[in-house]
Amino acid sequence: MHKKSAKLKHVCYDIRGPVIVEAARLEAAGEHILKLNIGNPAPFGFTAPPALLDAIGANLHQSQGYCDARGLGQARELVARHYRTKGVTQASADQVFIGNGVSELIQMSLQALVDNGDEILLPAPDYPLWTACTVLAGGNAVHYRCDEGSGWQPDLDDIRAKITPRTKGLVVINPNNPTGAVYEKGLLLELIQIAREHKLVLFADEIYDQILFDGAVHYPMAALSEDVLTLTFNGLSKAYLAAGFRQGWMMVSGDLNLAHDYLEGLSMLANMRLCANVPSQHALLAALSDPESIKPLLLPQGRLCQQRDLAYDMLTSIKGVSCVKPKGALYLFPRLDPKRFAISDDQGLVLDLLRKEKMLLVQGTGFHYPTPDHLRIVFLPPTEVLTDAMGRFGRYLDRLAE
Ligand code: PLP
Repeated sequence: MHKKSAKLKHVCYDIRGPVIVEAARLEAAGEHILKLNIGNPAPFGFTAPPALLDAIGANLHQSQGYCDARGLGQARELVARHYRTKGVTQASADQVFIGNGVSELIQMSLQALVDNGDEILLPAPDYPLWTACTVLAGGNAVHYRCDEGSGWQPDLDDIRAKITPRTKGLVVINPNNPTGAVYEKGLLLELIQIAREHKLVLFADEIYDQILFDGAVHYPMAALSEDVLTLTFNGLSKAYLAAGFRQGWMMVSGDLNLAHDYLEGLSMLANMRLCANVPSQHALLAALSDPESIKPLLLPQGRLCQQRDLAYDMLTSIKGVSCVKPKGALYLFPRLDPKRFAISDDQGLVLDLLRKEKMLLVQGTGFHYPTPDHLRIVFLPPTEVLTDAMGRFGRYLDRLAE
C-alpha cells in the first residue's frame, strides 16, 4: 500500500478540497454548477491585456532554454524598478525571485526559513496556502485575529500576545483574501514595528495591490521600512487577469545583513526548481510596463465594481446575512447570523447548497476562520450569474432558517 507522507497529515487546502470533488461528480452527471469559489478571472470572460499575449508570442523562440534560476535579468530589473518608483529605494534586481506563481514562492520562502516547531503568525481568516505551506515546512501556524467589527483589521494586541521565542515570521495579506480589507498606513506601520521589535521576517502578500475600490489606497509594506526584512509577493494572476501564466515575483528588502543565510537558502531552493516558466516572464515584462491596466474595471461603472456592488447589495438584503463591504480583491466574506442559522458544520452547508442549488462557495473554516458562520463568495461572474446565484442563496437560507 502506498501511503501519503506523514508530513502531509495536517496540511489542509480546502479551497480545492472535498467540495470540489462533489461538484465535479455533479458536473459529470450533467448538472450545471454556478461556481463562485475560485479567484480565477479567465473562465468568467476576463482577458489579460493583449500586450501580455503579444509579448509571449514575440519571444517564444528565445524562450526555449532554462534561464537564471531567479528569473530573467530583465524581468528582475523591471520588478526592482517598479518597487523603486513605489518608494522602496533599495529595491534591487539581485533580491528578486521570479516564480511559477506566487504559490511556488510562498512555498519556497517558508521552506527556506522554518524549522520543526517554529511559529509563523498568520491572519484568521487567511489565504490557506500560507497555513498549508507553514505546516508542510514543519512549522506551527499561529493565527491572529482579524476583527470583523472594525472592518477586518488585524488585532495588534492578539498578535503581540501570540509571539513566543519560536515566532519567526508575520504574514500580512493586503488587500486581503478573503475579507477584501485594505489596510491603512498607520496600521501597516504598527505591524512593521511588531516585526522590528521581535526580529520577525515580514511576509507581505500584495497580489491584489491593484484591485482597489472606492478610492482605497494600497501602501507596499516594503516602502514603509528600510530595516525590517520584508518579502513582498505579487504576480500576474489577479491584477493582470492571467492566472494560467503562473507568474509571480518575490522581492526581498530591508536589512539584508541579517539575511545572508536565509537568502542562500532561498537561492538553493530556486536552483532546485531550475527556473520559472520562461515565456511567461516576457508577459511579466509587458505587465509591469503598464501596471494599472486593470483600472477601468474598478471604476464605479467598471465591470468588477458593478459586480461587487450587485453581489454585496443582494447578499446583504438576505435576512440574517451581514458583510463588510470589500475595498479590494475579488471576494465577499459574509457572516450568517448564528441566531438565525444554527450551523455547526460549514463544509456540510456548502455541500448541501451545492446539491440543492447547484452553486459552489467556500466555507469560512477553509480559511481558518474559527467559527462555522462565514462563507467566501467570488464576485468575478457576470452580473446575470451573480443575480441568479444570490437569488438561489437567499432562497436556500430562508428555507434553512424555517
Ligand atoms: N496569495 C493570495 C492572497 C491569493 O489569493 C492567491 C491566489 O488566489 C495567491 C497568493 C496565489 O497566486 P498565484 O496564482 O500567483 O500562485
